[in-house]
Amino acid sequence: MAGVDDRYARQRVLPEIGDRGQERLMEASALIVGCGALGTVEAELLARAGVGRIRIADRDVVEENNLQRQVLFDEQDVRDGLPKAEAAARKLRAINSTITIEAMVKDVTPRNVEQIIDGMTVVLDGTDNFETRYLLNDACVKHATPWVYGGVLGTSGTTMAVVPHEGPCIRCLFPEPPPHGSMPTCETAGVLSAASAMIASLETAAAIRLITQQEPGEHRLVQIDPWSGSFLSVRVERRASCPCCGQGKYEYLDAMETSWITTLCGRNSIQIEPAHASSLSLDDVAARLEAVGTVTNNGMLIKVEIGEHRLLVFPDGRAIIQGTTDEAVARSLYSKYLGN
Ligand SMILES: [Zn+2]
Repeated sequence: MAGVDDRYARQRVLPEIGDRGQERLMEASALIVGCGALGTVEAELLARAGVGRIRIADRDVVEENNLQRQVLFDEQDVRDGLPKAEAAARKLRAINSTITIEAMVKDVTPRNVEQIIDGMTVVLDGTDNFETRYLLNDACVKHATPWVYGGVLGTSGTTMAVVPHEGPCIRCLFPEPPPHGSMPTCETAGVLSAASAMIASLETAAAIRLITQQEPGEHRLVQIDPWSGSFLSVRVERRASCPCCGQGKYEYLDAMETSWITTLCGRNSIQIEPAHASSLSLDDVAARLEAVGTVTNNGMLIKVEIGEHRLLVFPDGRAIIQGTTDEAVARSLYSKYLGN
C-alpha cells in the first residue's frame, strides 16, 4: 500500500476505490469524444485520478467564446489557434506526467469510430450533437465497450451510463434522435458552465465506477438543473425492440457509405446532407438563428450570415456552407447552428 505521500492517497483511502481500484485506474484507458465544456472537465478529472491512458478526439480549434466553460483552455491557446485535442493534451501532460495522453485531431465518423474506440476500457461523451452520440452508441454496443452519455443545454443537462447488453442503451431511451435543426443548440440557447461541469462530473464518476468494476446497480438516467437546484434520477429499462442493442442493427455505424459532405467545386462552399432527412420549419429555424446572425427567409430556404460564412438551410436539413472549403469547418458550423 502506498503511503500518505502517494499522489493518489486521498483516492486510495476511499473505500469505494482502495488500492485495487487505483491499480485498475492506472491500467485503464479512457476515450473522450469531444473536448469542449464536458470533455475538458472529464479529461482533467480522469488525468488527476491517474487513468493510465487518455485519448482525446476533437475536430475543432480553441476559440475565445470557449473560455467561459471549457476549463482546460486559456487565452494563449486562442491566440495560437490550437486544436482543442492538442491544447488539452499539453495541459494534461503538465497535470500528470505519469500517464499517457493521446490527442486525435479528427472528426469521429462511421469510417473511423471503431478504430478510435478499439482497446478502450470506457468511452465518455463530450460531444455536442446527436449524430455522433448515436454513432458512439452503435460502435460501443457492437464492441461491448461501456460508454457514458452526457448532454447539456442552457442551465440543465442529462447523463446515463450505458453498459452494453446489461443495461439500456441510448436507443432504448430515445429510439430516434431529434430531427436535424429541430433542437436549440449551445450557440442559440447558451450553456451555464456550472451545468456542464456538473454533467461532466457525473459522467466522470460513472466512468471511474465502471473502470473500478463496481456492481453496476440500477441503470439510471440523471437530469440536473443547478440553476433551479433540481435533480431527477429515474430507472431506465432495456427495450427488446431497441434497434441497436435489441435487434443488433447498427444504422449509424452502417451509414458509412452515406454521402454526408460534398465540396462544391470552385464555389468556396461545402454541402452537408444529414444521414437522415428531416422536415424543418424554416420559420422556427430562422427565429432561433436570429440570435447569432442576419437571417433572410424566402420560404424555400433561409440564408444566415455569420461572420465570414453564409449558411443556406433547406427544409430537408440540407445546408450549404459558403466561405470555406474546409470540411471540418463546414461540419462544425452545421453542428453549432443546426444542432447535428
Ligand atoms: Zn438499446
